[in-house]
Amino acid sequence: MNRDIAIMVDLQKLWDRKVEFEDGISHHEKSIAFWEKKISDIRKDVSVLKENLTQAELEIRLKEKKVYELEEKLGKLQKRRDVIKTEKELAALENEIKAVETEKDEIETVVIEEMESAAGIKKSIEKKENELAEAEPKMHEDIAYLRSKIENYAKEVRELISQFNAGLSKLSPEIKSRFEKTIKSKEGKAIAPLEGETCGVCHTSIPVHIVLEASSGIKAMNCTNCGRFIYKKENV
Ligand SMILES: [Zn+2]
Repeated sequence: MNRDIAIMVDLQKLWDRKVEFEDGISHHEKSIAFWEKKISDIRKDVSVLKENLTQAELEIRLKEKKVYELEEKLGKLQKRRDVIKTEKELAALENEIKAVETEKDEIETVVIEEMESAAGIKKSIEKKENELAEAEPKMHEDIAYLRSKIENYAKEVRELISQFNAGLSKLSPEIKSRFEKTIKSKEGKAIAPLEGETCGVCHTSIPVHIVLEASSGIKAMNCTNCGRFIYKKENV
């Protein structure tokens, strides 16, 4: 096999491994982001619930204060009964008392509902906080593990890149630039094994004379469709 072709085949292997490690890194980073979002979502939920609870408790206190004021008012009205002289005045007073009692009843009913709702919020907070207490230690453990994996993978990537660069510098100048540009493009494939008479990457059939020339391994040839270098796998 032509020396350049052999080097390119090796470089492609290094690059493929590098890409695998990079994919691993991005996969682990996604897992970390997923964990962090999950925890932050629970924290946000807890904080919204706590705000709701504070608001609900404030409402309850205000209404309880109002109930107390109405009770005081009722007491005073009832005492006034003793000093009333005419039936008309008494009827007016009874109406006023009734109106205050109705208002008080209504507010008390709402207070009971609001207390039930506040108790529900407290329960939800407790549930979310338990969830957090359970998930957090596991999350920290998992994230630490994932970060150590990422670090190892990054080390591999650096090592593979340095091996790649060393190999790249050995390629003939007329090939090097094209090979480097192609391998660093999105798909990361610069040399394709022939699969019969088709390119192993783009799977387009290649004219026979080029296949024959590429198979001889004397000269680096390119796929007529995707432009990648092509070679015949040996001993396969
Ligand atoms: Zn091709």
